[in-house]
Amino acid sequence: MGFDVEKVRKDFPILSKTLEGGKKLVYLDSSATAQKPQCVIDAIVDFYRDKNSNIHRSAHALSMAATQAYEDARKTLCGFFGAPKDFTGVFTRGTTESLNLVAACYGAANLKEGDEILLTQMEHHANIVPWQMIALRTGARVRAANILPDGSLDLDDFKSKLSARTKIVSVAQASNVLGTVNPLGEISALVRKYSPAALSMDAAQSAPHYLANLGDFDCDFISVSGHKCYGPTGIGMLIGRTELLDAMPPYQGGGDMIDSVSWEGTTFRPSPERFEAGTPNIAGAVGFARAAQYMESLDKNGARAHEEELLEFTTAELSKIDGVKIFGRAKGKLAIISFAAEGVHPHDISSLLNAGGIGIRTGHHCAEPLMKTLGVPSTCRASFTFYNTLEEAAYFVERLKHALSILR
Ligand code: PLP
Repeated sequence: MGFDVEKVRKDFPILSKTLEGGKKLVYLDSSATAQKPQCVIDAIVDFYRDKNSNIHRSAHALSMAATQAYEDARKTLCGFFGAPKDFTGVFTRGTTESLNLVAACYGAANLKEGDEILLTQMEHHANIVPWQMIALRTGARVRAANILPDGSLDLDDFKSKLSARTKIVSVAQASNVLGTVNPLGEISALVRKYSPAALSMDAAQSAPHYLANLGDFDCDFISVSGHKCYGPTGIGMLIGRTELLDAMPPYQGGGDMIDSVSWEGTTFRPSPERFEAGTPNIAGAVGFARAAQYMESLDKNGARAHEEELLEFTTAELSKIDGVKIFGRAKGKLAIISFAAEGVHPHDISSLLNAGGIGIRTGHHCAEPLMKTLGVPSTCRASFTFYNTLEEAAYFVERLKHALSILR
């Protein structure tokens, strides 16, 4: 028997929700944020009901229970993302904060005038703007490797932009617009061979599809978001090489991250504490770890195969519609389908789909430089994950055709 999507759907209470007017919810926006299974909702409620206390600070029973839950969550997540022993997981607010942390702290310690930071044309603003900010502060220069017409990375161009000047390479493992999955193995081999750069990976989009595993490739930092992996919002992780993290200056000061404080100055604790100033999102960490355990409990090959089927079906159907253009057709891509219809504004399509209960995303998807490369100001994006069904995909296609018949 194949992947039992109906059984999985029962784990997500929101998926059986009926919208105003009795419409069934068809959620095709999981790349923006994924829905949460009941076990994650329960883990958060249980934490607040049974264990709520601040961590690392007191010797009382609740504080010890909360500390244990928080540290267990860190261990679970490092295990889930395949972190080797010499890596440390730092809790953050999400991928954005993780990337900002690497840019600000690794960048501050390692960049100088004339150095280069290499990105790609398909990056999300979260993997562009922090690098531009640190480049301004240090005099380094941001470069971007090109993409090919099918939306895959141009590895020749990438290689040609690597040199002794390249001090940081930061790449999305998967594009939130094109769905392209970048060949991290090849990328890291090129980075190690042709530059002294540290390699940072934005795994916001790949992690929810079981692709972010540090055991599979050689990189120095990976950044993930809990909410895209079926966990809560406001929590994420940066997993980095401990040696590099410990050599980076912290960028936020406060409680819990210090060794000692005096008027003469402060010394900092090693990672992860040096980057976790103040009271963290303890319940969020617990919920994120529960989400990782939930993902582990599913048939991951079955889930990936099911997503591929959704992608193939929807791509084939959209390709038959006159004037509809799909952006990103790289082999092995995720079930993220960005498209535009000639002469029709993406927002109007989204509004009409919404009238049928379908939620998709429209806009520049926080990837304005990529939109410029693609030659469009915005696109529609339908993103699928393992809890979506072929019936939903077929309904989406039918409603899209209907919307276009009205708008054209
Ligand atoms: N990187 C990519 C590729 C993304 O798609 C996103 C969010 O959509 C981010 C980074 C930022 O993630 P977050 O908003 O969870 O910090």
